[in-house]
Amino acid sequence: MTLSLSHRLYGELRAHCEQTYPHECCGILLGRADGGAITVHRLLRAGNTRTDSAHNRYHIAPQELITAQREGRKAGLEIVGFYHSHPDHPAMWSPTDFAEAHWLGCAYVITAVEQGRATVTNSFLLTGADEEGKAFLQQSILVSPPDSASESAG
Ligand SMILES: [Zn+2]
Repeated sequence: MTLSLSHRLYGELRAHCEQTYPHECCGILLGRADGGAITVHRLLRAGNTRTDSAHNRYHIAPQELITAQREGRKAGLEIVGFYHSHPDHPAMWSPTDFAEAHWLGCAYVITAVEQGRATVTNSFLLTGADEEGKAFLQQSILVSPPDSASESAG
C-alpha cells in the first residue's frame, strides 16, 4: 500500500502546488499499479476548470482525462492517481474530495501549501469494490533518492 515516485517527480508535484497558490492546482498521475503498490512515472498538469471557487475545489475536465489515458497508453502507463493542493488547509481530504473521488484503486495525493510554501504531502488510496463501499486509506509515500537508478532522464 505505497505510492512510489522519484525525487524529481515529487519535487515537480510540490512545485506545481506552490506555483498556483493561493489557488488550488490539480493534475493526473500516470504510472503502473500492482495491487496496492502504485508507481508514478509521469505527472500531467490539469487546468482547474472550476474557476468559480478555485481556492477550495478542484475539477479535472473529462477531455483532460481522455487525453491523459491516450498519452499514457502510448508509454504503457495508466492513470494511477490524481493530485491537488490545499492552500492554507491541512493535507487531509475534505468531504467534497471524497464525494468526487470515483477512481477505485487510484491514489489521491494532497499537498498543503502554507503562505505559498508546500508543507505536508499525503496520499490516500481509494479502496472498495464499488461507489457505495469506497473509502480513503492513507498510504505511505516512497520518494526515491535523487541519484537513484529509477530516475529517468528527461
Ligand atoms: Zn481537496
